[in-house]
This record gives sequence, structure tokens and C-alpha cells, in this order.
Amino acid sequence: MILGLLDHDAGAVDPLSLQLLAAGQALAAEYGATFEVVAVGEPARALAPLLGRHGVRRLRLVTAPGADGYLAAVWAGAVLDVVRAVGATLVLGPGTDRSHEVLAGAAARAEAPLAANCIAIVPGSPCRVTRLRWAGSLLEEAELTGPLSFATLAPHAFAAGPPQAEAPQPEVVEHAYAVPERDLRVRLRTRTESSQGISLAEAAVVVAGGRGVGGEFGALEELAALLGGRVGASRVATSLGWRPHADQVGQTGTRIAPDLYIACGISGAIQHMAGCRSAKRILAVNTDPEAPIMRLADYVVVGDVHDVLPALVDSVRGARAPAV
Ligand SMILES: Cc1cc2nc3c(=O)[nH]c(=O)nc-3n(C[C@H](O)[C@H](O)[C@H](O)COP(=O)(O)OP(=O)(O)OC[C@H]3O[C@@H](n4cnc5c(N)ncnc54)[C@H](O)[C@@H]3O)c2cc1C
Repeated sequence: MILGLLDHDAGAVDPLSLQLLAAGQALAAEYGATFEVVAVGEPARALAPLLGRHGVRRLRLVTAPGADGYLAAVWAGAVLDVVRAVGATLVLGPGTDRSHEVLAGAAARAEAPLAANCIAIVPGSPCRVTRLRWAGSLLEEAELTGPLSFATLAPHAFAAGPPQAEAPQPEVVEHAYAVPERDLRVRLRTRTESSQGISLAEAAVVVAGGRGVGGEFGALEELAALLGGRVGASRVATSLGWRPHADQVGQTGTRIAPDLYIACGISGAIQHMAGCRSAKRILAVNTDPEAPIMRLADYVVVGDVHDVLPALVDSVRGARAPAV
């Protein structure tokens, strides 16, 4: 049986989880297995209709009294409890931070192998996977041996299926997890939401700045707001303190797949491109026509961001202005 971890934040599903649902169902159909979903926390109950529209027939809902928010150790223990109860042989998670953290914790407790960032999986014993390494520049074939395997999916390696209009709700099977004291050694104190509203991972337009922006993100913020998008950054921009780490795009930041990625004063290092290679279109603005990103982008503007961006903002604003 294949069990898929649903990543949600207080009942708001992470979009990468929809990719997991499609991948888990496709694998189950191909290899004659059953696919069920596990979610931790009472707020996930409200997601049952959505899961039904995405083809899920059974939701294992773990309630952990006193721990409805996200606590990695609690989620790991709860997921493992369900894995053991249902006899799952393969546990899949979406390519999110939470899923990596939770499944790594569950696999460690189960003394079972885990492969992260998989783009292909053949269930069985051994379970064979192809996974992305080195920011996507290396494809690795690996075998996970033993009766139980854990794997997380590379973001955007599998497409989410379209929701069905008329679909039955999944059966919700409840599991109560008695949280042991050791799972509560890390407790949540505060959470600070990004002031930008939409998440970087979900934004349809991302306007990102690197060293070439020189710390001046005003025009990027304006353009992102005009296009209903979000501001992102390279690691240089976050390391220099120009933007918070939450804005970083790349191997050690967020992996994004917007319709349009506007990279301003960013050279296109492999670790940066690892985070934005799934963008449908890339527009690069750079003074150096030989910068690596200029070969990878769909559209390029050779010029100084301090000239190009204000002109771009003006022209978008002009195009939006009502005719008089
Ligand atoms: C293990 C590891 C993980 C990493 N993870 C990440 C990651 O997640 N994300 C990430 O971004 N990086 C990551 N890096 C760092 C990465 O290798 C690069 O160093 C970084 O992406 C470079 O940032 P940059 O493009 O802003 O700066 P630079 O490489 O210095 O490029 C600046 C660019 O701006 C252009 N420019 C300069 N002035 C202007 C101007 N006025 N107008 C227009 N263009 C101008 C230049 O021509 C140049 O192309 C990682 C590195 C390592 C080793």
C-alpha cells in the first residue's frame, strides 16, 4: 500500500501536495497498489471535499490532542503510527520543507531508507527511484532496500491533475495519536507571516533581484504588485540582508514554477536556476550579455536594471491605465 503525506498549513493545502496526489494515484494504478492519504491535525478534515475532487478515496486523519499546529516531531510520530497501522510499504511526500522534515523524521524512527527529490519511482523491494542531485545537474538512480521505503517528490516533477467537478468525498478514517513527551521538545512560539500575501512558491509572477540590483528593490516591488506577483531574490541578495531568506529562490531557497520569472541583475548560477528552472517563461535583465542566465532565459534585456525596471513599470502602468 502507498501512503501519501498531505502537507497543509492549518487546513490550507500546499499546492505541491496536489502533485503528490496525482503521482501517488498514477503509481498505484500502474503497479496494482492502493493509495491512501495521511494528514495530521484536525484542520485537515476540512480538506476532504478537495481531496475527493482530486481522486482520493480514503483519508487517514491523525488527531494529536494539543498539537494541531505544525510540530515536525509530532507529525513524524503520527505518520509512522499510521504507516504501521495500515502496513504501508511506500510512503510518499510532496517536495515541501515540511514533508522533507516529517518523512526524514519518520524514516529515521522506522530505521527505513528515504530518498528525496525523486522524479521517478518504481515501488517494490527494493524500491527503485531516480532523483535529482546537485541542484538538478545530476540524475541519480538509487535502490531503497527493506520492507518500507520513504520518498519525497521533486517539486513540479509531476503535474497535479485537474479537479473533478462531481466527485465523492473520501472516507475519513480517524487515528488518535497519543503524543509522547519527547515529541514536544520543540514547540512553536511565534509565526511571522510574509508581508507579501501570496507565497513565493505559488505566485504566478515572480520579480527577483540579485547583486546587480544593489539593494534597491522598490521598482521590483512596484512591478510585482502591478503584475499581481511576488518579489524574490538570489542568495547574494539575501546574504547581504537586502531581502529575508524567505524570498530566496534556488537550491537552498524556494523552488518556484511561475508563469513568468523576471530575473533582475542575477547571473544565473546553477544553484539559483535549480529554483526557477520550472518557470514557464524567464525574462532576464542584465548588463552582461554573456551572463549564464542570458542563455537560459526566453527573453533578455541587456541593460542596467536601474534604467530598465522603471521603464517597465511605467509601460505596465500605462498599459493598465483606463483610456480617456
Ligand atoms: C551550496 C550552495 C547553495 C546555493 N544556493 C543558492 C540559492 O538557493 N539561490 C541562489 O540564488 N544562489 C545560491 N547559491 C549561490 C550561487 O552560487 C550564486 O553565488 C548566486 O546565485 C549569485 O547571486 P547573483 O546572481 O545575485 O550575483 P552575481 O553572481 O554576482 O551576479 C550579479 C549579476 O548582476 C549583473 N549586474 C550587475 N550590475 C547590474 C545592473 N546595474 N543591472 C543589471 N545587471 C547587473 C551582473 O552582470 C551579474 O550577472 C548557492 C551556492 C552554493 C555553493
